[in-house]
Amino acid sequence: MAGSPPSGTATYRRWRADTAARQPDHRSPGHRRQALRLEPANAERALTLCLRSPAEAPLLLEKALRERASTLFVERLGHYASRLGVALPRLSLSSARTRWGSCSLRSGIRLNWRLIHFPLPVIDYVAVHELAHLREMNHSARFWSIVAQVYPDYPNARKALQLGATHCPHW
Ligand SMILES: [Zn+2]
Repeated sequence: MAGSPPSGTATYRRWRADTAARQPDHRSPGHRRQALRLEPANAERALTLCLRSPAEAPLLLEKALRERASTLFVERLGHYASRLGVALPRLSLSSARTRWGSCSLRSGIRLNWRLIHFPLPVIDYVAVHELAHLREMNHSARFWSIVAQVYPDYPNARKALQLGATHCPHW
C-alpha cells in the first residue's frame, strides 16, 4: 500500500484515523505493516492498529474495541458489585442491536461491547442496572431504589444512553 495511506478506512463517528505512518511489524519480520492510529473525538483515548491492508481495519478495530470493553466492564462491575453487596458475576460481551445489557443468575451479566463508544457515566449506569438485577430481578420501585443507592444520577445517564444510541456506529 505504499503511497496510499489508509486514512478513512476505519473512520466512524467517535474514532478517526489520524496518521498513517508505516513501520515494521515486529511480529513478522520482513513484512511491513501500516500503523493506523485512531483518536477518539474527545482525545481521551487513542488506539493504534497494525494493518497489512486497509481492508483489515474494521475487523481489527472491532477486536481491539471488544478487548477494551471487556477490561473496562470487568473493572466497573467490580467497582459497583462491592457497593451493592453482590458477588462479581461472570461477564460476557454481546453485540445485540437492541439490548445494552442483560442479567441472569445462571449465566451472569452480558454487556454490549458497543457501550465502549459511550462516556463512562453511561457505561457505569448500565453496569449498575444489571448488577442491581442480581438483587431484584424486575423493574419495580424497589429495583430503582437499589440502583439509586449507588448511582443517584441514574435518570440522566438513562437519557444519555437513549440519546447516544442513535449516534452509536452501526457496524
Ligand atoms: Zn433491567
